[in-house]
Amino acid sequence: MLFYSFYKAWKLDPGTITATHGERKRIIVNLAEDGSLDFKSFCPTCLVRRPIRSKHCSICDCCVARMDHHCPWVDNCIGVDNHASFMIYLFSVIVCYTYVVYGAFCSNIPLTKFSWLCYIALYNANSLKIPHNSVSFVSLV
Ligand SMILES: [Zn+2]
Ligand SMILES: [Zn+2]
Repeated sequence: MLFYSFYKAWKLDPGTITATHGERKRIIVNLAEDGSLDFKSFCPTCLVRRPIRSKHCSICDCCVARMDHHCPWVDNCIGVDNHASFMIYLFSVIVCYTYVVYGAFCSNIPLTKFSWLCYIALYNANSLKIPHNSVSFVSLV
């Protein structure tokens, strides 16, 4: 579930607002005639009408409907179409991280090879002197 939701958040279109050349012309003319050709309702970069809660992402260089943010971890905008996948991905990361940390420090859960690797990576990366009580030390050895 972690990798599947990550893949969907990474590769799904976040809800890019597109328009054909003719639609852009019509949008500009309509907004100019209505007198509402401002940056709140019109994107001067994409030349499209922006719905409410949409934003232009300068990294992706497109307007995204109901944009939350541009996530550098999934290298994609989080918008209307991949927001649910992103939330599932975040929940999966929290569950996996909790399992790894809990498994590394609790003797009741058997350590897997993955949690061993994460424990060693965390221990070496932070250069912390992690205090071991006798029970967790025995389980690690
Ligand atoms: Zn735009
Ligand atoms: Zn973006």
